[in-house]
Amino acid sequence: MPCKDPEKAKLCKKKWDQSVKGKEYNKQYNKQWYQNNKEKVKQYYQKNQEIIKQYNKQYNKQWYQNNKEKVKQYYQKNQEIIKQNNKQWRQNKKLQVYNYYSNFDVKCNCCGERQIEFLALDHIYNNGGHHRRKIGSDIYSWIIKNNYPSIFQLLCHNCNHARGHNPDKICPHQRQKAEIILGEP
Ligand SMILES: [Zn+2]
Ligand SMILES: [Zn+2]
Repeated sequence: MPCKDPEKAKLCKKKWDQSVKGKEYNKQYNKQWYQNNKEKVKQYYQKNQEIIKQYNKQYNKQWYQNNKEKVKQYYQKNQEIIKQNNKQWRQNKKLQVYNYYSNFDVKCNCCGERQIEFLALDHIYNNGGHHRRKIGSDIYSWIIKNNYPSIFQLLCHNCNHARGHNPDKICPHQRQKAEIILGEP
């Protein structure tokens, strides 16, 4: 380091740290130091995991406290865009999931209704309420994350509702079909 005068050493070091040469030197030095002390660093982090976690938590909290107004302003200023993005993001996921459960031919699995506003996911095993509580509100993310489990089908609200309220859990459409095949009235 190019500092000789101990009086000015602090200032000199600061200058050196900010210079291009100094920055490069420090970078190399830190890199080398890390290479030499990798194991120690790892052990340190492992040993102090909880404290570091706590510290980070505290730091984030403090940062938020200090920048609360800025964050608020950002959200207020970009409200519409954020809302739009969230909507778009959800819409894309929904379509992705609908496509999967209808073999890329989005329609009601029972009556063939194609109007997407009329369609919804149906729990094949009729435990929708219980399951929904477990999944939370973002069912599409959950499905994608869990690799499209085969416990859902795509139905229109009519078929879904009728199936849910029938004691035998069959949509009247399907019963009609069966009656035609069996030749019953
Ligand atoms: Zn239907
Ligand atoms: Zn139906």
